[in-house]
Amino acid sequence: MPTCENCGQKWPWKTGVKNTVKFRNKAKCPYCEKTQYPIPKSRKLTAISSYMPALLIIALTLILDLDGLGIFFLAIALMLVFLGVYPFMMKLSNDDPMSTYKM
Ligand SMILES: [Zn+2]
Repeated sequence: MPTCENCGQKWPWKTGVKNTVKFRNKAKCPYCEKTQYPIPKSRKLTAISSYMPALLIIALTLILDLDGLGIFFLAIALMLVFLGVYPFMMKLSNDDPMSTYKM
């Protein structure tokens, strides 16, 4: 679960998912109201999580011999699973990660 860097409170799963769905790079802590910037726990983890759904769809399509509709539902199911686990892979920071990369 993402933990607020300012007050140390763990965010509820629902808050994490809500921010994932909105694809915002900042969110207000529900406990201390301080703006937090969700960042992936590690670069490797982000890479794996972005390739895994695509690889799984290809693998399962071949294994289960799915047709177009089957692949469609499989993609939706994987997306829901991905959204469900994504908050567990997030880390919160007090600083905007984008400003760190600026020259
Ligand atoms: Zn907080």
